Amino acid sequence: MDATGYDVVLLDIEGTTTPISFVHEVLFPYVADSVAEFLATRWADEEVQTHVQAIARQANEDVAAGIASAVGIDLDADSSDEIRRKVLANIEWQMKADRKIGALKGLQGYMWRFGFESGQLKGAMYPDAVQAMKRWHESGKRIFIYSSGSVEAQKLIFGFSDHGDLQDYISGYYDTKVGPKTSAASYSNIAQDIGLHPTRILFISDNILEIQAAALAELQVRISVRPGNAAISADAQYPRSTDFMTILL
Ligand SMILES: [Mg+2]
Repeated sequence: MDATGYDVVLLDIEGTTTPISFVHEVLFPYVADSVAEFLATRWADEEVQTHVQAIARQANEDVAAGIASAVGIDLDADSSDEIRRKVLANIEWQMKADRKIGALKGLQGYMWRFGFESGQLKGAMYPDAVQAMKRWHESGKRIFIYSSGSVEAQKLIFGFSDHGDLQDYISGYYDTKVGPKTSAASYSNIAQDIGLHPTRILFISDNILEIQAAALAELQVRISVRPGNAAISADAQYPRSTDFMTILL
């Protein structure tokens, strides 16, 4: 890769800028540990009630679908305490089952926003990733993020990171609305949206399937090697990095 080899850096988050364990060891436990108190203290909030209604709707659909452990929630007949108890039990059950259902994600996202904005949560960043972002930015290269977490969650992680607010370095965010991360078409869509030929974009990720998809779409690629990432087979022919300061150029 030469000094003028790319104009844009497209970054994955988990396993790339951020430890792969962050979501499962920090973000999910934050929700699991604080959801009871959160619901107890904010039950009357309009936004909390909107999420409660979505969870109740989902719970009743689960009962109708015959899911064994599902418990219905009757917003009209149940008492407020009863609804809160059932909602809490429902959330705990869904999280234990690692369900990726919209109603659960909605409440989680709201709690994370609260956690980041109040300083209880900070987006974990590898220091070399932050340094490299700063240098890329200074040298006129634009940085974009592509992660399976929602754009809203991405902005929280970078906006409230353990290295401060990094959003000024970032020109844009993509989530799976642009397509799945293992599909080449998603990377073509991103290149088109940025307005560059794919070969002018360097994509960095820990996931070999994402790297293959991006390479197929003609992006330049780099495998992020970080502690705890899944091992990459020795015959994968793509370049690798343990320190992003080595790929500045
Ligand atoms: Mg990743």
